[in-house]
Amino acid sequence: MAPRKRPRLYHAVCRECALERVFDSEDAADAFVARHVEETTHTALAERVD
Ligand SMILES: [Zn+2]
Repeated sequence: MAPRKRPRLYHAVCRECALERVFDSEDAADAFVARHVEETTHTALAERVD
């Protein structure tokens, strides 16, 4: 049996609209959040999912 390594996931979510997406890299999640905040001035954040 091969051990399964789980990728670390980052959940990008907006507090002010239905935007929600999961990334497997913190950089990608941060970039997505930063772009959304810039475009909409919403409050969005990326959090790690264990
Ligand atoms: Zn939003």
